[in-house]
Amino acid sequence: MITTRFAPSPSGYLHRGHAYSALTAAKAARDSRFILRIEDIDTARCRPEFEAAISEDLAWLGLRWETPVRRQSDHMDDYQAALERLRAEGLVYRCFKTRAELMDDSARAPHGPVPAYVGSALPAPEEARRLAAGDPFAWRLSIGAAKARLGTGFDQIEFVEEGAGPNGEHGRLSAAPEAAGDVILARKGLGVAYHLAVVVDDALQGVNLVVRGADLFDAVAVQRLLQTLLDLPAPAYRHHPILLGPDGKRYAKRDQAETLRALRAKGMVPARLRAELGFG
Ligand code: GLU
Repeated sequence: MITTRFAPSPSGYLHRGHAYSALTAAKAARDSRFILRIEDIDTARCRPEFEAAISEDLAWLGLRWETPVRRQSDHMDDYQAALERLRAEGLVYRCFKTRAELMDDSARAPHGPVPAYVGSALPAPEEARRLAAGDPFAWRLSIGAAKARLGTGFDQIEFVEEGAGPNGEHGRLSAAPEAAGDVILARKGLGVAYHLAVVVDDALQGVNLVVRGADLFDAVAVQRLLQTLLDLPAPAYRHHPILLGPDGKRYAKRDQAETLRALRAKGMVPARLRAELGFG
């Protein structure tokens, strides 16, 4: 049985690009399970009216999904438990670097792309002092600790790409998580970050085929590493091309004119939009 999901963040109204992604995921599920998941861990950007609009717009488009819908902000305990497990195994550390300090570090690096961050925990007395002072910090996954824990298995983490990455990547691929460096898994006060919430949810919901835009292709590396460290099953991936507008640019949440509700207000009917997106 195939289980796919569409996992939007309610930080704006859905546009044509979202419609294309949701239709692609629903079609990939065929007659099996299609799940809608509300990714609202970034509470500062997410709003209830956008969440309500997501269901309304997708139903208008003709989609049906399993209920109840999982809303990430209702399940922070699940993500905390996963973080706690990684912490108990010494795989994460508190990073107190501010954005300005991180920028400064990368400015000192040789020219070329900004290198991924790799660091380590502060010495215990300094960490205790910073904690006592209430300084903000992020929990980062230590790529070095992950490597030590998995041994030769670290370089053997793979995934199956059924669609294509931005450079045509397809088939059985090496995840190569080292390039991502020590990614942030949680922030003080903001619970959990995207990667950890996604792998926990995909596993809990039995998602075995992740269908999403090719802009998230690079996320697979970190997500496969987390799945391996947390003993979670590996879904297959099917990244689809990003839908571009007539101007050759991708649709963005800030383009009000192309939201599904704006199209609807202009008289668009769902069958025509589906046909325009190739789902006629
Ligand atoms: N919530 C993410 C987004 O809005 C998608 C996450 C995913 O599909 O893995 O782009």
